[in-house]
Amino acid sequence: MTTRSSPPLIRLDRVDKRFPDGLLALQDLSLAIDDNEFVAILGPSGCGKSTMLRLIAGLDDAPASGRIEAPELRESSAAQVAFVFQEPTLMPWASVFDNVWLAMRLAGLSRADCAPRVRAALQGMGLAEFEQAYPGQLSGGMKMRTSIARALVTQPRALLMDEPFAALDEITRSRLNIDLLEWWRRQRMAVLFVTHNIYEAVFLAQRVLVMSARPGRILTELRIDAPYPRDSGFRATDVFHRACRDLSASLQAAG
Ligand code: ADP
Ligand code: MG
Repeated sequence: MTTRSSPPLIRLDRVDKRFPDGLLALQDLSLAIDDNEFVAILGPSGCGKSTMLRLIAGLDDAPASGRIEAPELRESSAAQVAFVFQEPTLMPWASVFDNVWLAMRLAGLSRADCAPRVRAALQGMGLAEFEQAYPGQLSGGMKMRTSIARALVTQPRALLMDEPFAALDEITRSRLNIDLLEWWRRQRMAVLFVTHNIYEAVFLAQRVLVMSARPGRILTELRIDAPYPRDSGFRATDVFHRACRDLSASLQAAG
């Protein structure tokens, strides 16, 4: 365990989560995420990764036992937590600009007032030329970029990403990984990134957590000792390969 100078942004302490039908999804799950930390989560299908993210976001009923502490994410009415899913879930009838404006519009802010921030978010995601386009005119990668811009425009303290790039081709995914890291370095926020892809986890994260098969808990964690910015050259290093090998073994042990 590292010594912490300030309390973590998110702390789960021995959390059990049981669904009303009796299914025990999480058991004795503990973790701590620091402010501005980039953490990836790997684990077998159905082990409770999405359930854990929903609990952290406050989208689900409280756990049966254990504690979730994330006071800074709950304290104000502003959106302190943003979610990105595998499905971009854009409004098909609204332009890219209006899709990104949505969260702020719901908070009562006008289009004109939001325009500078919306444009900055679009620019950061490489969408500057596409603000008038409709989702139906975009590739899968561009839709995902729009979804990320929509999540980031409110400058959340924590970004929860649930297998966001799983449906994209390899080249699009690599490009998005690099751009996401760039945005994270600029904006400073904690990122929790769930993925099935070991290479993606190692490329992105400072720390990778491996969950057990259901009921999910954290089995192991691995710190990725490589500086940022990381570019595709990182994928050819010993540090990268060793981390991938270690995580692959942990995942097999996870069931
Ligand atoms: P993962 O994201 O790791 O694939 P999930 O968190 O989606 O896993 O689900 C964990 C387990 O909980 C699965 O067995 C799933 O079927 C079950 N589950 C998820 N949501 C519910 C729910 N609302 N009610 C009952 N069971 C659920
Ligand atoms: Mg899931």
